[in-house]
Amino acid sequence: LFLTFEGIDGSGKSSQARMLAGHLRGLGHDVVLTREPGGSDGAEEIRRLVLEGDPDRWSAETEILLFTAARRDHLERTIEPALAAGKIVICDRFADSTRMYQGLSRGDLRGLVDQLHKLMIKREPDLTVLIDMDPETGLSRAKGRQGTEERFEDFGIHLQQKMRAGFLELADEFSDRFRLVDGNRDMDSVARDVTDIVMQAL
Ligand code: C5P
Repeated sequence: LFLTFEGIDGSGKSSQARMLAGHLRGLGHDVVLTREPGGSDGAEEIRRLVLEGDPDRWSAETEILLFTAARRDHLERTIEPALAAGKIVICDRFADSTRMYQGLSRGDLRGLVDQLHKLMIKREPDLTVLIDMDPETGLSRAKGRQGTEERFEDFGIHLQQKMRAGFLELADEFSDRFRLVDGNRDMDSVARDVTDIVMQAL
């Protein structure tokens, strides 16, 4: 089973992915918890190239190529082998994040993202949990984290709102695999909803 978590910055999806992995392991499942951008040695290197340093270093198109390259490596080295071995893969962000961030934030590049996905990635998750979150709350939570400030200067409230709306539209577009969870609550309540959804899918 290939599960992904999506949501805006500060939505709490990383914590939820971690909690779900712990819960499923407690039930005896073999779980691989991974993330994007990153999740394999090569993809983590690409993550540093894209997320650290000057945000204008890459053109929007080059950034899409880098994210796609990272995802391809992550799939080949981490995700596909784990699925082939019958493990549950939980991934914090996947192609839907690129459809949103690279597809919408610097112009309308969704078409290019989709073409590259079709060519080089192909795979979609079996289930995607979208943690929906108020954009202002998400932004202030995300800004409270250390070491990511520079990147977030760019990602102001307007983009955060646009991404939130975009994710909700994406959930309609891929309604077969998307499940929506209200992230504006305490972590344990959110985790209970996530667990219910995943147990149904198992
Ligand atoms: O999910 P996480 O907090 O690790 O994401 C790190 C940063 O990378 C965030 O600022 C997120 O908005 C950005 N990102 C991006 N494009 C993606 C995935 C993440 O710009 N496809």
